[in-house]
Amino acid sequence: MTCTVVETGTGTRAIVCTSGRAARCVSCGKRAPLLCDWKVPSRRSGTCDKPICASCTHSPAPGKDLCPDHASQWRQRQESRHG
Ligand SMILES: [Zn+2]
Ligand SMILES: [Zn+2]
Repeated sequence: MTCTVVETGTGTRAIVCTSGRAARCVSCGKRAPLLCDWKVPSRRSGTCDKPICASCTHSPAPGKDLCPDHASQWRQRQESRHG
């Protein structure tokens, strides 16, 4: 969560807080503009949603990103499919 102090111009100040967007990569801790798209039916959003950065993501398809945990699961599935 990021909080900013905003001058209202009348001598009073307001603190505005925004959540999200400041997520950190689960793998390296850098800023994470991407979210894992792995399907997780138990979650309300339906996807894993772990924050990941561009250098730690695994992209199985254009516009899709996987966190390191799910990237390894995805690889296992690929291998079993070919086997
Ligand atoms: Zn990272
Ligand atoms: Zn994930």
